[in-house]
Amino acid sequence: FITVSNLWKEYGDLVVLENLNLSVKQGEFCTLVGASGCGKSTFLKMLLGQETPSRGQLLLEGEAFPGEPDRNRGIVFQRYSVFPHLTVRQNVLMSLELEQKPWLGKLFGSARREALEKVDTMLASVGLEASATKWPHELSGGMQQRLAIAQSLIMRPRVLLLDEPFGALDPGIRKDMHDLLLKLWQETGTTIFMVTHDLQEGFYLGTRLLVFDKVRNDPHDPQAFGASITYDLPTGQSDRQLM
Ligand code: ATP
Ligand code: MG
Repeated sequence: FITVSNLWKEYGDLVVLENLNLSVKQGEFCTLVGASGCGKSTFLKMLLGQETPSRGQLLLEGEAFPGEPDRNRGIVFQRYSVFPHLTVRQNVLMSLELEQKPWLGKLFGSARREALEKVDTMLASVGLEASATKWPHELSGGMQQRLAIAQSLIMRPRVLLLDEPFGALDPGIRKDMHDLLLKLWQETGTTIFMVTHDLQEGFYLGTRLLVFDKVRNDPHDPQAFGASITYDLPTGQSDRQLM
């Protein structure tokens, strides 16, 4: 589904990613760990098309990634981008409108009613149905995170990119978010790449753990420097068939 081959990223003299090779199946949940500055966020930006590789290739279903952000390829980067003057419901509607009408058009009439139904279904599935008419500043940290997930998933991404989404949350709320994210991942079949600094979180959530480091993959092959080692995780969480 996604193939990364001989990928290098350099900023001037700084080699951030050195010969990254990786192949990911549709529907996998990849967790990315590694020391600060090892290039995790840079890698997500390349998947999004915000950064271009210095060398090497990123392929999505056999086609090279575009050089600029392209929603139609279905790759969505979750960030917390709420409009403070819009309610929770209006914020999620806005995301849907952005996806359906990227030129910032509004939906009207029956299209709007249909969209609002989708929004309400999404809010229910992230547990925010009772907060639909609240303003963003009235939400707790966990609820804000739920809103961010709703805004991302309403776009029905094929690939969802998450960069340390739960870093700022309390342990109890984090646990709830893990359960929610796993539920949504199983329901939607979205391929996920999630950066985390918490190895345990990486093991718990992922079907595959990507450890970003400079390691020699094969001691007999001097070309075989890899920027990452991957571990396939024996997760019992998903009974979905990976393709
Ligand atoms: P962290 O865990 O701290 O978020 P990271 O693994 O996400 O780290 P990146 O943000 O990908 O690391 O950065 C990798 C390296 O590339 C860092 O040394 C950073 O300073 C450098 N870097 C990132 N973006 C740029 C840029 N636009 N220009 C120059 N150097 C950059
Ligand atoms: Mg980062």
